[in-house]
Amino acid sequence: MENEREMTGAEQQPAEAASAPAAQPAGRPAFRQNGVNRKKRKVCQFCAENAKSIDYKDTAKLRKFISDRAKILPKRVTGTCAKHQRELAIAIKRARTVALISYTSD
Ligand SMILES: [Zn+2]
Repeated sequence: MENEREMTGAEQQPAEAASAPAAQPAGRPAFRQNGVNRKKRKVCQFCAENAKSIDYKDTAKLRKFISDRAKILPKRVTGTCAKHQRELAIAIKRARTVALISYTSD
């Protein structure tokens, strides 16, 4: 049984270095995370290809919009617009009914 924890992120911070006599710069937090701008503009894939209707038989495409647990992914994940998300949900449910895609992952 080990009862010790790793102390991570316990770097000292120059909290009050206003009256620092030294001329050398105090350690400034050079913490710039990699995420510069993580918001990548998502565009609706159906709008992009001018799809008028979503084919429920196109399982290869429908599979891109369901999770690994066979759930319909929300549009905030896929970037699908509201109109196509509605049609997509219907198409996926229709495909499930005719057993083209499964209800569950197993
Ligand atoms: Zn769309």
